[in-house]
Amino acid sequence: MLATKRVLTALALTLFAHEARAADEVVVYSSRIDELIKPVFDAYTAKTGVPIKFITDKEAPLMQRIKAEGEHATADLLLTVDAGNLWQAEQMGILQPIQSSVIDANIPPQYRAAGRDWTGLSLRARTIAYSSDRVKPEQLSTYEALADSQWEGRLCLRTAKKVYNQSLTATLIETHGAPQTETILKGWVNNLSTDVFSDDIAVLQAIKAGQCDVGIVNTYYYGRLHRQDPQLPIKLFWPNQGDRGVHVNLSGIGLTRHAPHPEAAKALVEWMTGPEAQKIFADTNQEFPANPHVQPSAEVASWGSFKADTLPVEVAGKRQAEAIRLMDRAGWN
Ligand code: FE
Repeated sequence: MLATKRVLTALALTLFAHEARAADEVVVYSSRIDELIKPVFDAYTAKTGVPIKFITDKEAPLMQRIKAEGEHATADLLLTVDAGNLWQAEQMGILQPIQSSVIDANIPPQYRAAGRDWTGLSLRARTIAYSSDRVKPEQLSTYEALADSQWEGRLCLRTAKKVYNQSLTATLIETHGAPQTETILKGWVNNLSTDVFSDDIAVLQAIKAGQCDVGIVNTYYYGRLHRQDPQLPIKLFWPNQGDRGVHVNLSGIGLTRHAPHPEAAKALVEWMTGPEAQKIFADTNQEFPANPHVQPSAEVASWGSFKADTLPVEVAGKRQAEAIRLMDRAGWN
């Protein structure tokens, strides 16, 4: 009888604690498509009772809004893509570090800010896509080799204005230095079959249409198109397997400097780096989990495994301005 009473008391306390926590909502400013994040937030609310409000916009206005709100912040967390963007947010001083042994254990250091202002949540490789009709994988080797004359008039690229290409270029500068990177970029521009495209899907469609034979795209765009068109005559190639590996970038999240609910926000981020959330989050957009203990979906795994560049992704931010200047000099629009 006494034991039952104790259990009931414990249960009541648990429920009380649960209620108390439920009062603390978390507000997320997100630049990701609603469909990609809603399943994760719904799962968290179902599990903990903590409501999550999210506001979706492009990263630049969201970052400006956080800055403008200052101490009267409404957002607890900023969720966006590309280390280049997260690094910008860090430089603007709108984030603050989260000290968490849970996050440290879940996410490898190269996918987090050294100062802990943000952490990666999912990974995407920016890799080579090629026409399986007109290109043999043996003809491919590295990003750098796409500057070779064998690809003259056969390469498609997305615009240099997109942060994804700026981040890739930043890693080239880190690896080779600016002069050699400029030569590589000039080679790419020289090999273009047509004007640059505004998005990765357009690059893939151009390869499919025979406008070009090779391009550089984020893996999940390939996944998206492949899902619509299982006969897609395009394959992914993992470059630089003999040296530094494939360029990997991420989506990530950071705690805002004046977050109104920092503890609740921290608990959410910790959960988002754990197995349950990682699975939902990565699978929804056909990305790779940033937590290496979580397996990618069967579909993503079917693209094959690869060696990824272990350069800290922060380099994308640190060298972003330099990358933009070099791309401009090389004539990459
Ligand atoms: Fe994207």
